[in-house]
Amino acid sequence: DLSGFERISEFEWQAPATGAMRVPVVIFADEALMRAMDEKVREQASRVAMLPGIVRASYAMPDAHWGYGFPIGGVAAFDADEGGVVSAGGVGFDISCGVRCLHTGLKSAELLRQQVRLADALSRAIPAGVGSTGELRLSAAEMDDMLTGGARWAVERGYGDAADLERVEEGGQMKGAMPQQVSVQAKQRQRDEMGTLGSGNHYLEVQRVAEVYDEKIAAAYGVAVDDVVVSIHCGSRGLGHQIGTEFLRQMVVAAPSHGIVLPDRELACAPIESELGRSYLGAMRAAINCALANRQILTHLLRQVFAQVFPQARLPLLYDVSHNTCKVEEHEVDGRQRRLYVHRKGATRAFGPGHPDIPSALRAAGQPVLIGGSMGTSSFILAGTERGMKLAYGSACHGAGRAMSRHEATRRWHGREVTDELAERGILIRSPSFRGVAEEAPGAYKDVSAVVDAADSAGLARKVAKLVPLVCVKG
Ligand code: 5GP
Ligand code: MN
Ligand code: MN
Repeated sequence: DLSGFERISEFEWQAPATGAMRVPVVIFADEALMRAMDEKVREQASRVAMLPGIVRASYAMPDAHWGYGFPIGGVAAFDADEGGVVSAGGVGFDISCGVRCLHTGLKSAELLRQQVRLADALSRAIPAGVGSTGELRLSAAEMDDMLTGGARWAVERGYGDAADLERVEEGGQMKGAMPQQVSVQAKQRQRDEMGTLGSGNHYLEVQRVAEVYDEKIAAAYGVAVDDVVVSIHCGSRGLGHQIGTEFLRQMVVAAPSHGIVLPDRELACAPIESELGRSYLGAMRAAINCALANRQILTHLLRQVFAQVFPQARLPLLYDVSHNTCKVEEHEVDGRQRRLYVHRKGATRAFGPGHPDIPSALRAAGQPVLIGGSMGTSSFILAGTERGMKLAYGSACHGAGRAMSRHEATRRWHGREVTDELAERGILIRSPSFRGVAEEAPGAYKDVSAVVDAADSAGLARKVAKLVPLVCVKG
């Protein structure tokens, strides 16, 4: 049943490198999650282990499930000096999809007095759903500026404050972006999609801090029980998807010329040190900036709504972190510092205390790790740990992970019923699509508490606070 996997610690399972595998596979999970995990995760992670230049192991996080090529919840690092590759499928189609969490300074009792008004105002102000468009129309020159400048560009245009930037990965601006590597079609798709949530499991959620597990880190993050926070989950919209699609195709075609034998065409990749590899990295970094700018604009829209409903509230940013990226990072491997291209697909960066890339005010506590659960259960704030840096390059889970397909979910639930049931429990859902709500019904996801407990117990990240939904604007 767990064929080939050996339990190497209570929360760690390993399959040795066999056949064409260059490194072992390591899955972080408790026994129940491991047994329930889609068999394809093990298969996909084993194929990732066959890719050139992969370092140490092919990892899967406790929320892992089947994905295109790489599992969602997969982490893999490559060394350029050893023929290492970059893979479009290893980043995912929604490049730099991620979560940002904002304080409100409000307590839940205050918020609840205006809950309906807030939900209605948010649903009017936040563009959501398939094909939704924003107010902004970018010229070709502005598009390139956005793709280079990220959240910094957005702040310069009046969306938010300079103080926000310090709380975003990379200071809000991913270096090394190459807008010239982004196709006309990708830019076209993004022309009117800035400042939109998109569809599927993207959301803007008003949440109550229901529980604090680590008082010290919670204090450093500025969260306490009954505080209200707002989380925004979305990515690079049509632009990222188009880049992923185009480069995947190119990587399949070019693989033989790079001497790469693909164990699965979905694992299409190119050497980091190749023209195609460099082009993809440049385009992907532009998409990261697109996602950072997008979340920054949505933050501005959110603050405008709060200014009307709660004029006294201020919404400073706690943190913004992506879970679909490939980033160059320094990690210690076998006692040696190495520069690696770390792919995290549906995995959240989780740097431990003291890391220079963490904003100074949060550095001693470790990087905030922001994890969605579902619109009816809970979400979590975790913190990166020293141990996690050694386990999987400072990475943790990114959500609950799906327990069934969207199709299966729509057969089991009706969006209107889900919305009504949640309203009875005090959770207001606002979505343009009942079908979308059914697809995202809380029951369609794994138990997020079990996933987060496994991440915490394995040492990937430390549990800090639990958030429960009050209002959820869904795509
Ligand atoms: P993904 O990045 O794979 O698209 O989604 C990340 C995670 O978000 C999912 O695994 C799921 O646990 C979580 N999620 C999906 N919909 C919602 C929602 O409406 N609210 C919250 N809080 N989490 C959600
Ligand atoms: Mn996404
Ligand atoms: Mn996501």
